[in-house]
Amino acid sequence: LASVTFQVLTILGATGSIGTSTLDVVARHPDRYRIHALTGFSRMDRLAELADQFQPQVLVVPDDTARRQLLHHLGHQRTNCEILIGPDALCEVASCPEVTTVMASIVGAAGLAPTMAAVRAGKRVLLANKEALVMSGALFMREARTHGATVLPIDSEHNAVFQSLPPGFDYGLRECGVSKLLLTASGGPFRTLPIEELQSVTPERAVAHPNWVMGRKISVDSATMMNKGLEVIEAHWLFGIPGDQIEVVIHPQSVIHSMVQYVDGSVIAQLGNPDMRTPIAHALAYPDRIDAGVKPLDFSTLAGLTFEPPNLQRFPCLGLAYQALDAGGLTPAVLNAANEVSVAAFLGREIAFTDISRTVEGVLESCNPPDDRTIESVVEADLRARHSARRIIEQNRMSAA
Ligand code: NAD
Ligand code: MG
Repeated sequence: LASVTFQVLTILGATGSIGTSTLDVVARHPDRYRIHALTGFSRMDRLAELADQFQPQVLVVPDDTARRQLLHHLGHQRTNCEILIGPDALCEVASCPEVTTVMASIVGAAGLAPTMAAVRAGKRVLLANKEALVMSGALFMREARTHGATVLPIDSEHNAVFQSLPPGFDYGLRECGVSKLLLTASGGPFRTLPIEELQSVTPERAVAHPNWVMGRKISVDSATMMNKGLEVIEAHWLFGIPGDQIEVVIHPQSVIHSMVQYVDGSVIAQLGNPDMRTPIAHALAYPDRIDAGVKPLDFSTLAGLTFEPPNLQRFPCLGLAYQALDAGGLTPAVLNAANEVSVAAFLGREIAFTDISRTVEGVLESCNPPDDRTIESVVEADLRARHSARRIIEQNRMSAA
């Protein structure tokens, strides 16, 4: 891949944790990046601030109410940019000709359509929105190849694997002598909590991650380790490696961001402070290297690095994700949808933390998803799994009452 020295960006989900970190890196390199569009779903005050700082051509918001709020916060500088509304506008700014690079950092299934639009327009796609790839796996990768899109991983583990593979690994990991991918996981806030206390943990405790500051949904996913499960599926598609060659290693310090094991016994790892600006800067500038504003690792103060295998009794979601990958077809889309509904119900205090995996398991048992040939079938499997998850949550509520 040739070095691209000037890029025009659309940032999907600019107001979120990844969006904000991306803009932090962009602001350090005005000579390399210009912003075409920023999108936000809530926090219009924040979107207005970002618009003021980065002067994009276009802003995308969900509806008319959000648009009015945005105009209010924009004040005097409202005439400078166009404001578009709704999901179609997300796809439009992800695929329009003047854009070279799309940061896909909307959370969850809502990011699928615009991310796919960027892929189909052959953009350089910086993929944070792992749910989109988990849902549409084979289709996503096929469309990327067909339309010449470059997909660069933002998820720190996949970015670490990418950095630990030889250039041009696309021709096959087996041919490169890779025997295994080792995805590291912090184990989240409940790694050592007595298992019987898990059922009563609050959303506040679940979102308080020990090493990373992230959006609420992915923070809960880290606490259940569904996040690592989604990442196993993500790695399968990004790197074309079977699930049984992807191993999860708990490494509570989050200094090693993942590793690649080779047939000769070598293990190559990527290390750094846990700061998402590192993978973001790597993918933005690839194959160049740019300053990300991240403190260098200090080995004189670094305490011990420790490792342990994940306990699937404590983290049943991780096992469910491996099962979904194994089942193939659209089962990962079902897993993802059931998880999104369950996490939202947990955050809304409707269900207990331990009901997240129970609900996902129930949905996986009852759903028989169609084949994965089109985006429509992906969306249908997603919707059906959402209904099924809601039904299970309602039934449990009624039987508890
Ligand atoms: P976040 O909740 O902080 O931000 C999400 C963004 O998406 C916001 O801009 C929000 O306005 C927008 N959004 C939410 N719902 C939307 C909808 N229905 N339609 C359009 N836009 C919507 O989340 P985040 O932590 O930044 O995570 C974003 C993605 O990156 C997720 O897929 C997550 O798994 C992935 N990721 C995040 C991190 C991290 O450190 N935060 C690390 C790896 C991967
Ligand atoms: Mg990750």
